[in-house]
Amino acid sequence: MSWHVQPELLEQYASGDIDQLQAYSIEAHLPSCEDCRSQIAMLADDVRLARVWAEIGASIDAPARSPVETILVRVGVPEHVARLLGATRGVGKNRVTSRKRRRRGRG
Ligand SMILES: [Zn+2]
Repeated sequence: MSWHVQPELLEQYASGDIDQLQAYSIEAHLPSCEDCRSQIAMLADDVRLARVWAEIGASIDAPARSPVETILVRVGVPEHVARLLGATRGVGKNRVTSRKRRRRGRG
């Protein structure tokens, strides 16, 4: 194989800081190239480790997340969006449970 993904592109891919077209091109190359796969595996570990440390630092300062927020963040929803959705879902849930309570009271 003559073409390989440039190291700086692999770093950007591992950190998620890359445009979709370049990501597709890298993903098309990776299944057929052991060299690039092993490089991205090492980079991904470094990036993941750095992210975990950053999250630990942030979680020490930040207020506790609701269970809904935690799930949304784990599946990749940005923190500020997860916080908003978590709060919105909480409001909807309360409305449903209060409606049930009213119905139970009448019957
Ligand atoms: Zn390659």
